[in-house]
Amino acid sequence: MKFIEVVNNLFFGCVDASFYEENHIELEKTNYTLLKRSVTFSTGMCLFLFLITLPNNSLVNQLKYFYLFFTFFYCVLSFLTLTYVNKHRRYIRLFYYIFAISIFALSIIVGTVITPELPAITFFVFLMIIPILHVAKPIYSVILSIVAAIAFCITTFLVKGSNSFLTNTDILNALCCMIVSIGFDITIINMQLENIHAKSFFRRQSTTDELTRMPNRRGFDLYIEKLFYRSIATKKDFLVMILDIDDFKAYNDTYGHIQGDLCLTKVSEALKKVAFSKKYFLARYGGEEFVVVAQITKPDIIEKEMTDFITTVQNLNIPHSGCVRCSITISAGYATLFETQAESHLQLLDYADSALYKAKTNGKNQIYHWSNN
Ligand code: GH3
Ligand code: MG
Ligand code: MG
Repeated sequence: MKFIEVVNNLFFGCVDASFYEENHIELEKTNYTLLKRSVTFSTGMCLFLFLITLPNNSLVNQLKYFYLFFTFFYCVLSFLTLTYVNKHRRYIRLFYYIFAISIFALSIIVGTVITPELPAITFFVFLMIIPILHVAKPIYSVILSIVAAIAFCITTFLVKGSNSFLTNTDILNALCCMIVSIGFDITIINMQLENIHAKSFFRRQSTTDELTRMPNRRGFDLYIEKLFYRSIATKKDFLVMILDIDDFKAYNDTYGHIQGDLCLTKVSEALKKVAFSKKYFLARYGGEEFVVVAQITKPDIIEKEMTDFITTVQNLNIPHSGCVRCSITISAGYATLFETQAESHLQLLDYADSALYKAKTNGKNQIYHWSNN
């Protein structure tokens, strides 16, 4: 068990694998930003080297031309990726890998065949291709680094001829390159995962209600606004239902605020069960009011399904001596997008609210459909 945890932490960082999967897109986006910075930095470095060695014309200077040339393309590619980050991402990434592998192969040839006295050149190339590895999962960078180190050893061995073996320095070089790139990649990816984790934690905190542990008004507003315009675009109907606990002020007056909170928690747990089983969105709208959002796939049974919320609360049988029904009940009003032809989600909420008002004036513990007006 411990071993699995260690491996998991190494490959997925401080968070578990499911979090990694859920936030993979966000991680890729931050990786592209990082990639852009690394590329800008390495281009700057190459340009600097190029300028300071401009008066000489040795073989080493030729190598700098070579790096400058490739880094330029690398830079162009990164900006292209950033521009099209949400489109064709898969193809661009594939292109990156082809590019990274060819630059690596070329560097090995340059570092071994052309200038065998400079085997450490591969190390430099490794540092250059590290940003490319950031766009993938940590496990990919580990595999790539190992493959690259083996490729380095084989090429060096072949270049030196069959009568000569790899020296300790060659193997040490390959190992160093491998360890540095793996360590660098995993550290960066883990740091980014921690950032994303923190961001999503605060986002969740700010959209969750403390007492009932369901989305709060802010969470609801964010959800409904998006859904409204998506539903208009895709021509899919949905409903908004506002639920309000009956005579709750009297409950607080009779049993006290602490018992009131307890009752609110019980009611919200019961509502959650119904909502989760049908995959409806449920939020605390404010005070003792809740809101349900449901996509309408079966219009003929939707009223019955919504009534489940009312009966579930009634079946809790929470005593309430301060009202005529002697137990906690809830009233609801709902309105649908297509029937109301609402022009905004706020208007739709207004219709649902007026239906709720009808349910209250009709005697509470019931549901009211706006179109019945
Ligand atoms: P109606 O049947 O018409 O809805 O009557 P009501 O008494 O439920 O409605 P009203 O809006 O007058 O009262 C709502 C009460 O809900 C007032 C407030 O004290 C109580 N309330 C709102 N939020 C909370 C909460 O978080 N905890 C507790 N204990 N009470 C709350
Ligand atoms: Mg109320
Ligand atoms: Mg109420």
